[in-house]
Amino acid sequence: MEYLPIFVDLRDRLVVVVGGGVVAARKIDHLLAAQARVRVVSPALGDELVALRDAGRLEHLAQPFAPDVLSGAQLVVAATDDVTVNDAVAIASRERGLWVNVVDDAARSSFIFPAIIDRSPLIVAVGTAGSSPTLARRVRTQIEALLPQRLGQLAQYAGCWRAEVKAALPELPARLKFWDRFFSGPVATQLLAGQAQGADEAMQGALALARAGADSPAGEVYLIGVGPGDPDLLTVRALQLLQQADVLLYDRLVPEVILGRARRDAEKINVGKLPGRHDVPQSEINALLLDYARRGLRVARVKGGDPFVFGRGGEELQVLRDAGIPVVVVPGITAALGAAAASGIPLTHRGLSQSVTFVTATGKQGSQLNWPGLAYPSQTVVFYMSAAQIDHIAERLMSHGLPGDHPAALIERATWPDQRVLTTTVGGMVAQAQSAGLKSPTLLVVGEVAALATAGIGQDSAGQDAARAGGEA
Ligand code: SAH
Repeated sequence: MEYLPIFVDLRDRLVVVVGGGVVAARKIDHLLAAQARVRVVSPALGDELVALRDAGRLEHLAQPFAPDVLSGAQLVVAATDDVTVNDAVAIASRERGLWVNVVDDAARSSFIFPAIIDRSPLIVAVGTAGSSPTLARRVRTQIEALLPQRLGQLAQYAGCWRAEVKAALPELPARLKFWDRFFSGPVATQLLAGQAQGADEAMQGALALARAGADSPAGEVYLIGVGPGDPDLLTVRALQLLQQADVLLYDRLVPEVILGRARRDAEKINVGKLPGRHDVPQSEINALLLDYARRGLRVARVKGGDPFVFGRGGEELQVLRDAGIPVVVVPGITAALGAAAASGIPLTHRGLSQSVTFVTATGKQGSQLNWPGLAYPSQTVVFYMSAAQIDHIAERLMSHGLPGDHPAALIERATWPDQRVLTTTVGGMVAQAQSAGLKSPTLLVVGEVAALATAGIGQDSAGQDAARAGGEA
């Protein structure tokens, strides 16, 4: 290892930056963020730096570089576009025993700025010893995507409790175990999801248990919407919590490939329900959720689309809340949005559709729908769970005044590798659906916008093979 990364406290320390252009400005942004005092040496300044100087944020010496400008400095940055000037800065700095960075010139630098991921107080630094700043930035972007946005808040929160935990648990092994539990437990999950409520009470409780030497059964449930099927449509938080869960209770609509994103050793339980054939009644699912959570496990309740759109997530949330179990709800891309994007059907469109309605037409609920409202032309209506009801839907829409040639689209297995899009009409859709032999899950879109569907998306044969291999859970 040629370089040793260190974190330097620059508060109120003087840093001299030679150069007044955009490259200097970028470094100065970081230095000011670290609360350094900045002296810029340059005959002229770019707009950004002029603004900072006028705001009193930096000292400006409007002159060419001369070694005496370095007096009082702790660090030096040479950021001019003139190699001889940069060279002179590097030599003068080294003569004075000062650390110097020459921008984009590792050979002349005695330190280099890493690419950083800032979740202050947590900071990740990435460097390539000057070999490739571009690579460092790429790695930075990749790590950035892995780290929850609120990790800094979590670090800060843990910091506030450090002294109290240390006093309560003077033995190091007990303390380490406590913090380990903390970072993979419900308080951390809730804080990362932006829910700080009740965190202090939960900490107090966990600490009391730890002090008594008891294991805290800190179970929790994540109600995760995993989107319409394509694993690339998972949210970052969905992925993080899938990987954290000890046990997964998943629905029929969740494809194997998404379960593959969970931990290998997590227990995976299919609680899928087929329409009209309830394999596992909701009450039993609720009981399973409670049971696993009470055993202290991290339970992912994995649902297709969004948990709160025809997903019975609301009922499960209620049951868990009543039982005092911490819950985090993770939204997902609901099937209508996934299907719209994957078929090129805009759900609203100037001049064609001013509103969009998501409805389900199954069973008793179908008869409670506002059919005259749904049969109104300049809107989009998306029917979930409509496959078995399609003749009923067509008949109702037309009997409430929608013309038979009003456009409609059927989107089967939206965003799956074997997605199919059928553009049709309200009058023709029953026959179309029958002759195409549509499989579950299928979504029905009614509205002028349906005619805009891009046929053929997602119908490559390689994709179909992959879909067959993957199968439906
Ligand atoms: N919570 C889910 C909906 C569950 S209801 C969501 O937000 O998407 C199940 C219905 O959703 C299915 O009958 C079907 O109409 C629709 N659906 C779910 N995934 C789909 C997909 N990939 N393609 C087409 N329709 C889908």
